[in-house]
Amino acid sequence: MVPILPREKFLTTTTDIQGCAIDSCATNSCDILVNGGGMVGLGLALALAGEGFSVVVLDAQAAPAAPAALQASMTQPLFDSRVSALTQASRQWLQQLGVWDALAALRVCAYRDMQVWDADGTGAIHFAAEEVRASVLGHIVENRLVCAVLYAALQQQPTVQLRNGCALETATLAKTAGDYSEITCNDGTRWRCRLLIGADGGNSRVRTLCGFSTREWSYEQQAIVATVRSERPHQHTAWQRFMATGPLAVLPLQLPEASEQHHSSIVWSCDSALASKLMALSDTTFNQRLQQAFELRLGTMEIVGPRLVFPLHQQHAADYVRTGVALVGDAAHTIHPLAGQGVNLGFSDARCLASVLVQAKRRGEDLATLQTLSRYQRQRKGPNLATMLAMEGFKRSFGSDNLALRWLRNAGLRLADSQPALKRTLIRQAMGLSL
Ligand SMILES: Cc1cc2nc3c(=O)[nH]c(=O)nc-3n(C[C@H](O)[C@H](O)[C@H](O)COP(=O)(O)OP(=O)(O)OC[C@H]3O[C@@H](n4cnc5c(N)ncnc54)[C@H](O)[C@@H]3O)c2cc1C
Repeated sequence: MVPILPREKFLTTTTDIQGCAIDSCATNSCDILVNGGGMVGLGLALALAGEGFSVVVLDAQAAPAAPAALQASMTQPLFDSRVSALTQASRQWLQQLGVWDALAALRVCAYRDMQVWDADGTGAIHFAAEEVRASVLGHIVENRLVCAVLYAALQQQPTVQLRNGCALETATLAKTAGDYSEITCNDGTRWRCRLLIGADGGNSRVRTLCGFSTREWSYEQQAIVATVRSERPHQHTAWQRFMATGPLAVLPLQLPEASEQHHSSIVWSCDSALASKLMALSDTTFNQRLQQAFELRLGTMEIVGPRLVFPLHQQHAADYVRTGVALVGDAAHTIHPLAGQGVNLGFSDARCLASVLVQAKRRGEDLATLQTLSRYQRQRKGPNLATMLAMEGFKRSFGSDNLALRWLRNAGLRLADSQPALKRTLIRQAMGLSL
């Protein structure tokens, strides 16, 4: 059995938050080092911190702004271009972590309906929260605000160290259970941890350094994201039109305490050649192409911020764990954004891994053995793979020009739309309540 570090032994040097006074020459020790302070890494660190582990979170980027500093700008229609559709299951977890109210006090937008249709036929499906007696299907949140509230909560935790502007460079994993792994960073700091967690995104350095193999392929697609203002209100609906070149999603946004419903975030996934052409267009011409692609369902549309583009690929680590190390979130799996599941799966990973580690601690077991960590892998790999396969099926089916397949998918959508019991199951799945 490996003892959890007593609080007074946490870090061998001073413990000033954000790294100002951490000694770059000394080696700082902790129970768990989370590399990557994105939404998933911060959520996991917060879940662990509440259980008395000493946790260090490293991130290559600057720290998120404090919620209080963001508050004043929340009534301005300047939305983060990166948003996520959070399921009810993810919202419940953020509530358990004690950050949902702070997030909602900044800015979130509930969606009550989903409209999905095939550009190439008459197939369509409509999901409504009321069909499962719920008030909402989910929420659209801005990624930077999720990070901001998680980070602020972590700053209140006495057993947590947050260090930003610090990229992990090397990792030497412990050879025997109970030993420390050693980490070095590009700012000269050195760290020792019982357990290393890779929460460092799709290009995970932890995954590469620790020799995890992946199965991956490019979709040859890119996603253009931007904020738009539409002539007609979005009606608290998440919209998605499937085209042969890729899906266009329009996700509702809302200013706090405002009744206006004219801002949305678009995620326009399309073949790389088309994406390059769309990115090269002037705003005026882009707006015209966008309205056309969206069949003017919300009237005219106007881009109100920058257009960003992200290459899309699917990637799945063959294993999520080895002795002394575990992968979570995009470091373990990256999927097409068409069903808005990436961070929701990542939060499920984080919730599961935290629970496995807490149980191990209560039983006096070593956190870092393969036996302990495999419990996490066993619970998460199957559901993640199932979601990835479903997304792949959608992507291929809607990307096909094959006449029979087009007929089948249109008929399938119409059939699903007319079957209340099947629809309720699909809705509950989309809400993350039956995963
Ligand atoms: C266009 C688009 C739309 C999407 N929409 C949705 C949606 O609606 N719903 C949904 O659930 N998901 C969505 N996703 C997926 C979602 O954004 C990701 O799954 C999620 O951001 C992954 O979070 P993460 O914390 O695992 O990784 P990341 O957000 O990538 O965070 C990784 C962190 O690690 C840090 N890092 C990287 N390397 C190092 C290093 N060497 N040392 C230290 N730190 C490092 C980075 O700075 C970063 O902060 C979308 C994705 C895209 C591309």
